[in-house]
Amino acid sequence: MLDQVPPAAPERKADDSEAVLAPLVDPFARAITYLRVSVTDRCDFRCVYCMAEDMTFLPKREVLSLEELDRLCSAFVARGVRKLRLTGGEPLVRKNIMALIAGLSRHLASGALDELTLTTNGSQLERFAGELAAHGVRRINVSVDTLDPEKFRAITRWGDLDKVLDGIRAAKAAGLHVKINAVALKGVNEHEIDDLIRWAHGDGMDLTLIETMPLGEIGDDRTDQYLPLDAVRASLEEHWTLADIPYKTGGPARYVRIAETGGRLGFITPLTHNFCETCNRVRITCTGTLYMCLGQDDAVDLRAPLRASEGDALLHKAIEDAIARKPRGHDFVIDRTHRRPAVSRHMSVTGG
Ligand code: SAM
Ligand code: SF4
Repeated sequence: MLDQVPPAAPERKADDSEAVLAPLVDPFARAITYLRVSVTDRCDFRCVYCMAEDMTFLPKREVLSLEELDRLCSAFVARGVRKLRLTGGEPLVRKNIMALIAGLSRHLASGALDELTLTTNGSQLERFAGELAAHGVRRINVSVDTLDPEKFRAITRWGDLDKVLDGIRAAKAAGLHVKINAVALKGVNEHEIDDLIRWAHGDGMDLTLIETMPLGEIGDDRTDQYLPLDAVRASLEEHWTLADIPYKTGGPARYVRIAETGGRLGFITPLTHNFCETCNRVRITCTGTLYMCLGQDDAVDLRAPLRASEGDALLHKAIEDAIARKPRGHDFVIDRTHRRPAVSRHMSVTGG
């Protein structure tokens, strides 16, 4: 199986699609400028809210090769995507991932892409930080739900917090801006959020809190984990001064500035607020399935058109058809009467 990306795009036959590369705009007049791509479903952790302990991963032939991922991302860049986020599973455990990143960096150099970034659990960051920076990556998100090594091991099922913290140090030393993501978990890290704020802001990092989303069976009851962020915000306001700010990163987080630290705190609240009106993104799984909405099951297979011919005409047609079906919004629900996930796939499939 091909698994190397040449530094430059391979020569391809010109086809009809290359003449009509109109920007992607959905039926609600939202321009699609942000693509998140899961480069693997595999991970070296098994976070309790994300995966079951005993996961069955996809056979390799179903997963897009690095060349296919490059071709797919490049097709979206040609249609107006300005921000590309690689995620997973854990993107940095994908074999030869740096070849993909090196290849995609040509779109940064050409000015077609504003940002190439990734979301990582940080376990491999110490090894890759320098290369990421060299390939034009400027900002990364690192997921850290707790600063307690034992709790970290319990949440991730076997992760090593020290290794992640070493990775963050290496990233900063390489000049990368690091944003910390933390999933708010009832009874697990809910009393540690102050510590996470002090740590992240003390080290010049933004912190974003994420509500658990009901994606995929995980073998536990999600209502035990669900901690609404409006409750978190209310309790933070008892001892911090939070001011809403219009800061945007292209993602769905709403930000506040904390007067006492000067740092930014983001809230991603898909369940208590609706951020769909301004949704500018779509997601692709590592098998080439395009999800037009994180919270809906409707999807379009892009792997078949990708593999059907060398030219991109079929691919562009499939992308256009998909964007024409992007729904207005999602309808996540977590409550005692809806114990099953609203969406059957795991977060590690679409990468959050
Ligand atoms: N492995 C990488 C990581 O952990 O950062 C990237 C993939 S992970 C699926 C992306 C983000 O989704 C992480 O910040 C993770 O904490 C978050 N996440 C995973 N499952 C989630 C869920 N059910 N609800 C909310 N966030 C979730
Ligand atoms: Fe892996 Fe990220 Fe999911 Fe944790 S949240 S199991 S690190 S993909």
